[in-house]
Amino acid sequence: MFTSFLIKYAEIGIKGKNRYLFEDALVQQIKYAVKKCDGEFKIRKTDGRIYVDAVSDFDYDEVVDHLKKVFGIAWICPVKVLHDEGFDKLKQDVVAYIDAVHPDKNKTFKVHARRARKNYPLDSMEINMDLGEAILDAFPEMKVDVHNPELMINVEVRDQIYVYSINIPGPGGMPVGTAGKAMLLLSGGIDSPVAGYMIGKRGVKIDAVYFHAPPYTSERAKQKVVDLAKIVAQYTGPIYLHVINFTDIQLYIYEKCPHDELTIIMRRYMMRIAETIAKKNECLGLITGESIGQVASQTMQSLAATNEVCEMPVYRPLIGFDKMEIVEVSEKIGSYETSILPYEDCCTIFVAKHPVTKPNANVIRIHEQNLEEKIDELVQTALDTDELIIVQ
Ligand code: ATP
Ligand code: MG
Repeated sequence: MFTSFLIKYAEIGIKGKNRYLFEDALVQQIKYAVKKCDGEFKIRKTDGRIYVDAVSDFDYDEVVDHLKKVFGIAWICPVKVLHDEGFDKLKQDVVAYIDAVHPDKNKTFKVHARRARKNYPLDSMEINMDLGEAILDAFPEMKVDVHNPELMINVEVRDQIYVYSINIPGPGGMPVGTAGKAMLLLSGGIDSPVAGYMIGKRGVKIDAVYFHAPPYTSERAKQKVVDLAKIVAQYTGPIYLHVINFTDIQLYIYEKCPHDELTIIMRRYMMRIAETIAKKNECLGLITGESIGQVASQTMQSLAATNEVCEMPVYRPLIGFDKMEIVEVSEKIGSYETSILPYEDCCTIFVAKHPVTKPNANVIRIHEQNLEEKIDELVQTALDTDELIIVQ
């Protein structure tokens, strides 16, 4: 039935002079997406529109699934392409199209014709009227509503004739690659994959870092993070995941610092290390899955204490989200099932029974001085043993 898809984009349509950069980035991302599908496709950009044309057999559901993950796409419209064999034939074809695509005829509709080819014998108004009449003749249950139709039957006269009436929502946002790169602190939880998704949705390319604490955290916990990165990468493209061995740093903090401040000091070292890797890799910011008040390490005071060790902006897209809202997004993007697998993460192993909820940054700084002797060396070793996994 369908051999083409019309891709509509909302926000990137309004970027003025830079519009072509956004369109080119979107075309590029669409190319990556369909490359993962069976079949061969051509991507065309014409008159402020992007078309994906199938030039071989393909799996409709597979293509739609992949396009639904391309940031920058507002709507995906499957198109029936008809040869121009005269207006009478067009009437028959459009009636047959509606019969096949919209089995429920109890609907209001409107025909919306556009002529990209001006030498067509009828003008847009005439096409609207005559096709509308043909549809009413064929399906008396249908009714015209020009203001608020349930079905908008679009007919575009080009070298061939394009008919479409289905609008499948895309993810919105901006094409990846239009906004620089950021380093996501990715754990095995529910929040950080969602945070990565949300910043990726604004066109940002994502790198990631995971702090691993073997043997306290298992190989399976690490694999879970790789799996989560894979899910996020379906939307953001390949992710360079840095796995940092954090065990010795954690043990050293455990040995030298008050246990109720452990989490916060550990988080400060995570941020410092993440920032060093981020700078080395031309990232413009860090991303975390923090949300105010969710746990002791995410009170305003804790966030302030964590934040002060970074020079780079730290993006926290979930900062005002309730857990339920975060879960909703994670279910939508497909990371929830993996996130809730029960493998331990490195924070849960060393947590104190009663962590500070209102850390004083001055006090934390003083206690961090207990680490002076060995911490720089341990951080350097952690950086030197960075394991890079390219997640596709
Ligand atoms: P998440 O669901 O993302 O794990 P959380 O609710 O468990 O979050 P914390 O454990 O306090 O919260 O972590 C807060 C943020 O710190 C995470 O969202 C993540 O960005 C980062 N983070 C925590 N642990 C790690 C880790 N082991 N490796 C990388 N980043 C981490
Ligand atoms: Mg966590």
